[in-house]
Amino acid sequence: MDKEFIQNIRNDFPILSEKVYKKDLIYFDNAATTQKPRCVVEKIEQSYYHNNANIHRGVHYLSQLATEEHEAARSTVAEFLHAEKREEIIFTRGTTEAINLVAYSFGEAFCKEGDEVIVSVLEHHSNIVPWQMLCERKGMKLKVIPINEKGELRLDVFESLLNEKTKIVSVAHVSNVLGTINPVNEIIRLAHSKNIPVLIDGAQSVPHIPINIKDMDADFYVFSGHKIYAPTGIGVLYGKEKWLNAIPPYQGGGEMIQTVTFEKTTYNTLPFKFEAGTPDYIGSTALAEALHYVQNIGLDNIAAYEHELLEYGTERLMEIEGMRIIGTAKEKSSVISFLVGNIHPYDIGMLLDKLGIAVRTGHHCAQPLMDSLQIPGTVRASFAFYNTKEEIDKFMEALKRVVMMLS
Ligand code: PLP
Repeated sequence: MDKEFIQNIRNDFPILSEKVYKKDLIYFDNAATTQKPRCVVEKIEQSYYHNNANIHRGVHYLSQLATEEHEAARSTVAEFLHAEKREEIIFTRGTTEAINLVAYSFGEAFCKEGDEVIVSVLEHHSNIVPWQMLCERKGMKLKVIPINEKGELRLDVFESLLNEKTKIVSVAHVSNVLGTINPVNEIIRLAHSKNIPVLIDGAQSVPHIPINIKDMDADFYVFSGHKIYAPTGIGVLYGKEKWLNAIPPYQGGGEMIQTVTFEKTTYNTLPFKFEAGTPDYIGSTALAEALHYVQNIGLDNIAAYEHELLEYGTERLMEIEGMRIIGTAKEKSSVISFLVGNIHPYDIGMLLDKLGIAVRTGHHCAQPLMDSLQIPGTVRASFAFYNTKEEIDKFMEALKRVVMMLS
């Protein structure tokens, strides 16, 4: 992607022209949330101004229009992931809710005392805590795949953890801290060889890597809209039809029912069985708009350009004495976590902020990973396709100043 193309893309994101403390904003906190292109914001406005009505069951014109848009958005997501059927796409509030849904419903259907769940040490809290809650509820055990010194999963250990008690494996596709791209195809193959289903947390992969869920063969795949240029409050659970049919509803209420009497309720078919209450039809259509936007740029182009930024950023960071990059996996996405000497990451983040640069500092909702690395946290710079090498240069200038001040 050449400079002119990137500049045109940047023009689609009005917030990138904002000033912070009278300085140009440099936004390197994309792993936390991405900025929104004008077309997504305009889609929300258009929906509220022109097609807003509660969906499904409405006989009137507006309701039918809103329903059509919401269901078209489901098809867009299914196509984006290359899912076999659109009924396999469940709208949720985000990754966290999607994982909680599976941990609860799968747990109810298939888990009992003594069973085991496997996660990895590099998981976000949202892919740890719901499984811990399941383990507590049912008297099960949580098993953890360790990492090597580069931040790559130890597949040899993973293989030895799989046994007849393992009911499900749940791992991130990409680590939000280390940037490691996990070998999910291999993980799924190994688990499936023992008939164990796998959930892939795609929060950090879907914005950066083309996903073909059929090839990947994940049983469940989840992601959040806000990390892929869509609004907050909308996310996706993909589940293979056979699993979604085999597990009970997560929440009860309107939409998810077929018939209700005080004696017995029967549940709706997929995907509505898992969508209790008024769906976020404004969010779903804005998500579809964001996915179209990304598709127009092309995920292969995005992946290649972001890899350039990753390599350039990594190379430049190494100019700083005492630089320690946390996470040096061979396969990485555009996330760089680092520490400099004994300087606390929070101090670096705070001073960078005063220079207009947004990075994230702390444990990044991955305390067990921080414990295993024996560090309090990191500074994390995470890039999106609207970032540039010039921004990395400015960031480096600022970082050098900050390190000098704090050393
Ligand atoms: N999983 C990973 C790998 C993440 O990076 C995040 C958010 O940072 C989540 C899950 C949780 O996403 P959300 O808060 O949008 O539900």
